[in-house]
Amino acid sequence: MNDVRKYTNKLLELIDEGMYDKDFVINAALNALSEDEVAQMCRNNDMFLFQEECDGCGDVFYYEDEVDEDGLCDNCAAFAMEQAAINLEEEAYAAEAEEMLDDWNNVGSRHHY
Ligand SMILES: [Zn+2]
Repeated sequence: MNDVRKYTNKLLELIDEGMYDKDFVINAALNALSEDEVAQMCRNNDMFLFQEECDGCGDVFYYEDEVDEDGLCDNCAAFAMEQAAINLEEEAYAAEAEEMLDDWNNVGSRHHY
């Protein structure tokens, strides 16, 4: 028999035999792990603890902090930032164009004569 997992195998055997309660062993095992190790174990076993949907693309995410406080995933948040920058630029152009129209000395001005 494989001896590498001597303790693990013996413990599983004793759980099987009813010597130890599963809940007791689960608690002992989880307490022995760090929070990061518990998170890693969940990831490794596709155990999803969190489920959040992105308001932008509708994709579902299973880990904490993948959807930001605005309800957007990283991709959509980056896209929203780009879009906001473009909107600011367009507003600046529009304001500039508006100024030009009000500039009497400009040939494009509505006041130019
Ligand atoms: Zn998204």
